[in-house]
Amino acid sequence: MLFEKLAEAYEKMEATAARLEITDIMSGIFKPASPEEAKKIVYLTQGTVAPSHAGIEVGMGEKFVERAIALSTGYSYKQVEAEYKKSGDLGKVAEKFVSERRQGSLSREDLSVKKVFDVLSRIAIAGGAGSQDAKIKSLAELLNSASPSEAKFIVRFPLAKMRLGIGDATIVDSLSFARRGSKEDSAVLARAYNMCNDLGLVAENYLTDEKSIAKFKPRVFSPIRPSLAERLPTGEEIIEKLGKCSVEAKYDGLRLQVHKSGEKVEIFSRKQEKMTHMFPEIVAGVRKQVKAKEAILEGEALAFNSATGEFFPFQLTMQRKRKYGVKEMAEKYPLHLFVFEALFADGEDLTTIPYVKRRQRLGKIIAPGERLSLADSIVTDKPAELEKYFEESIEKGLEGVIAKDLNAPYVAGARQFAWIKLKRSYRGELSDTVDLVIVGYYLGRGMRTEFGFGGVLCAVRDQDEGRLKTVAKIGSGFSEEEMTEMKGLLDKIKVKEKPKRLDSMLTPDVWVEPKYIITVAADEITRSPMHTCGKKGDAPGYALRFPRMTGNVRSDKGVDDATTVEEIIAMHGMQKKVEMVEGEGS
Ligand code: AMP
Repeated sequence: MLFEKLAEAYEKMEATAARLEITDIMSGIFKPASPEEAKKIVYLTQGTVAPSHAGIEVGMGEKFVERAIALSTGYSYKQVEAEYKKSGDLGKVAEKFVSERRQGSLSREDLSVKKVFDVLSRIAIAGGAGSQDAKIKSLAELLNSASPSEAKFIVRFPLAKMRLGIGDATIVDSLSFARRGSKEDSAVLARAYNMCNDLGLVAENYLTDEKSIAKFKPRVFSPIRPSLAERLPTGEEIIEKLGKCSVEAKYDGLRLQVHKSGEKVEIFSRKQEKMTHMFPEIVAGVRKQVKAKEAILEGEALAFNSATGEFFPFQLTMQRKRKYGVKEMAEKYPLHLFVFEALFADGEDLTTIPYVKRRQRLGKIIAPGERLSLADSIVTDKPAELEKYFEESIEKGLEGVIAKDLNAPYVAGARQFAWIKLKRSYRGELSDTVDLVIVGYYLGRGMRTEFGFGGVLCAVRDQDEGRLKTVAKIGSGFSEEEMTEMKGLLDKIKVKEKPKRLDSMLTPDVWVEPKYIITVAADEITRSPMHTCGKKGDAPGYALRFPRMTGNVRSDKGVDDATTVEEIIAMHGMQKKVEMVEGEGS
């Protein structure tokens, strides 16, 4: 397939925000594609050349991309830079200079999807001395053969700024539409994606044999996207929801997914990043204690003194996330892995069988030893017993408990009531939601880099002063689709400086004009020196604890409808009263 076709599709996608239209355009691309091409198209559309767990990023700094544009088009670096300052979008700069090229290219050829993909892959894996020059040269060579529109998209890959407004869920739908003309296969495709975190691989398999996708099994060394826990405030509500259930200790450490085949072991984070090199003691423990030849297990790792039974603080465990001094820290603060799931063992997909069966299997897979043990648990249908176990867990220094539905399969990549967490803070959950104004956003890190979105800075209104005051930084509650959508919306209202009406001590990566309102839930309101809401002199302000977005941007509300500083202070007061009443009773 010619890259021209893909660029044409991207142009059309850029011009619309309608999801159905985007799905239609993308399925039109998948229809004629070979399985191998579909795989590459998926990666390119995700703005990458490999699944995230491969740890390969095309990434080139803006300066280097500017040099590649200059090299290919015959303009000076200064001219390219000046144009970028004007437009703020290097894709557009490339488009302009390629269309007004000063130097002809001797080696112009029709670009295929394969050619573009291969060169970008080469750029991604190039490393070591002189690699930047080689990357610039490779990118310039691609630009030599590119049309203006192709050039726009080609330079956006290494900058990780695709601006296509297409999330993984839409790619999944487009694949299904390409073969079925409907979303009929979307659910099985999404499941397969959750099983391997590799949408390119899923597309390739699907276009090779559509029927095989329903039987897609986990694969050792492809991380499975994690199951997420819902929350409920009391043991009573949990039992009401699940009936008889397993209640597991909730350890406060790092969630790790361990993959093993023979002596080879890999460890992935909950964001599917490879972390094997950071935890040599766990790798050794897995080799010693996991009896299956092939296995995928999940657990929480934390620094733990097995002699005294004492759990070290979370911050200490977090220090183990490091590149240097790994061996010394592994000796000083070895981690212990509390294993809570078996997802795959010796060729068998365990994600589809009920929790009780998986747990039994887990018990057989793990041999006793010093590095790994099963997460502690009880089975009960009595709220009082659940609450007692919860209190005991808190006393031991744990975070709370996670109740698990005995009959549920492993729900990869989703939050459903198969798991329900009960943490101390949820008991004081803020009874009401609040409506906040978005005043800026943060760029994403890790898995979120592809969206260029990591959360928003939000404010409330100070009616007395007629100003906006920050009250929360919100990084959770967004689905992939929402992140893409939110970034798209906010990019249109970016401003260079802090909005005039706003008082903020925090500086997000990007400021936006105060315009959009979101509804936010939180656990409680706390005093905070970082936020300006209710801040008077040196005394701290007020902030939301564990804020999360609920629903979409409120198109029915404007800045004047946002929650006020007074309301926040009143809610804080009510919360204190509740605490006192609870305190008196116990
Ligand atoms: P939270 O991060 O508060 O949403 O709670 C869910 C997290 O608790 C999971 O992602 C795990 O990292 C962690 N966790 C600790 N113990 C367990 C357990 N026994 N079962 C499942 N998750 C656990």
